[in-house]
Amino acid sequence: MPAFGAEFLWGVATAAYQIEGAVAEDGRGVSVWDTFCRTPGVIRDGHTGDVATDHYHRWRSDVALMADLGITAYRFSIAWPRVQPDGKGQANRAGLDFYNRLTDALLAVGIRPVPTLFHWDLPQPLEDDGGWLARDTAYRFADYAALAAGRLADRIDMWITLNEPFIVTAFGYALGMHAPGKALMLGALPTAHHQLLGHGLAVAALRAAGADRVLLTNNYSPAWPASDAAADLAATDAYDVLHNRLFTDPVLLGRYPDLAAFGVGPDGLDCVADRDLDVISAPVDGLGVNYYMPTRLSALPGSPLPFQMEPIPGYPLTAFGWPVIPAGLTELLTSLSEWYGTALPPVYVTENGCSEQDEPADGTVADPGRIDYLSGHIRAVHAAVLAGVDVRGYFVWTFTDNFEWSEGYHQRFGLVYTDYDSQRRIPKSSFSWYRDLIAAQRSAG
Ligand code: BGC
Repeated sequence: MPAFGAEFLWGVATAAYQIEGAVAEDGRGVSVWDTFCRTPGVIRDGHTGDVATDHYHRWRSDVALMADLGITAYRFSIAWPRVQPDGKGQANRAGLDFYNRLTDALLAVGIRPVPTLFHWDLPQPLEDDGGWLARDTAYRFADYAALAAGRLADRIDMWITLNEPFIVTAFGYALGMHAPGKALMLGALPTAHHQLLGHGLAVAALRAAGADRVLLTNNYSPAWPASDAAADLAATDAYDVLHNRLFTDPVLLGRYPDLAAFGVGPDGLDCVADRDLDVISAPVDGLGVNYYMPTRLSALPGSPLPFQMEPIPGYPLTAFGWPVIPAGLTELLTSLSEWYGTALPPVYVTENGCSEQDEPADGTVADPGRIDYLSGHIRAVHAAVLAGVDVRGYFVWTFTDNFEWSEGYHQRFGLVYTDYDSQRRIPKSSFSWYRDLIAAQRSAG
């Protein structure tokens, strides 16, 4: 593996609802995911995050295992309902205490904490008031950011505002596959603007509280046309705008991409007020990039979403059925650099990984497929660095197998196997592989 340099961050990423459990402890409020998981039929086998990997109680041993892995940074998310059970008002001290303890424990073993403020677990009372469809939620998010940073920014210098606002808009509000389960199709577009506004307001709140570096994390997917037919090319462009540009152009360029393919006229979205784009385009110190796979598209005439997804044949598949295409990550990183030029801040790959059918045997778990996946994608990052993209970190999704949203506990993405009956953790062979890679990189740096 080529050397990435001494400053490059090597990490793992997790999210609160996927690992913490303890949903009713220490004053935590209800999140939209608690509610959604109780809706019959929406999550495979009715699984919930009530217990998850019990990280809320096992964080000490989890941090010890991270120290053993040798990571230099840990991306986790703070549960908004632990900090503000109702989504507004003063902080719940016991909730912040948890992240305070975690922060100190990470720093004590030389791991840089990188919190994400919103990884989808919106407090239910805010959803009852309209959720991200309501402009007010953006202001509530900034208040929450101020409370979290007020307690932690003296020790944490790197912060991420939102995780994958595209997925929240698309899966949560347009298609109804994620919490809060609304299927509004294009009626979901205001949630894009309100999340971006929340991001911009939170940037100011974080800086006021002393945060040094602030990032936004998006999910990106190179958009590939299924054919050269004009209709398929147009469908691909439309998808590209929605998935890759809608949540980035406003932040880095201070303007929305052309949304004509979605029936939005030249005056833009109605919900955009004067000066909103100034707030949204406040400078950031990095862009978080989550990559799993490209998307192949063909036209779907007569539909409000004028495209449909097509399989991408000819590649190995993960357990989820996602094609393994490391070159897509190089393509994505170099495309970002081409699209945004000098407006592109340093990039951090804040999530990348795969689910496999992992089974323990004789006390160990062999996952050669994951090692191939990670090694191919890390090399793909290096190819982008050689092409001139300023990439400064890589975080594997994820540390331990955990609650995989609609798939419940069925998809295992971890470097560490979780036995959900006993909560025993068993490091997989990819854990040792990643540990050796980090050690080699650190000694080369
Ligand atoms: C999300 C994670 C999720 C992963 C795998 C990302 O979109 O940020 O929470 O587990 O993908 O599906």
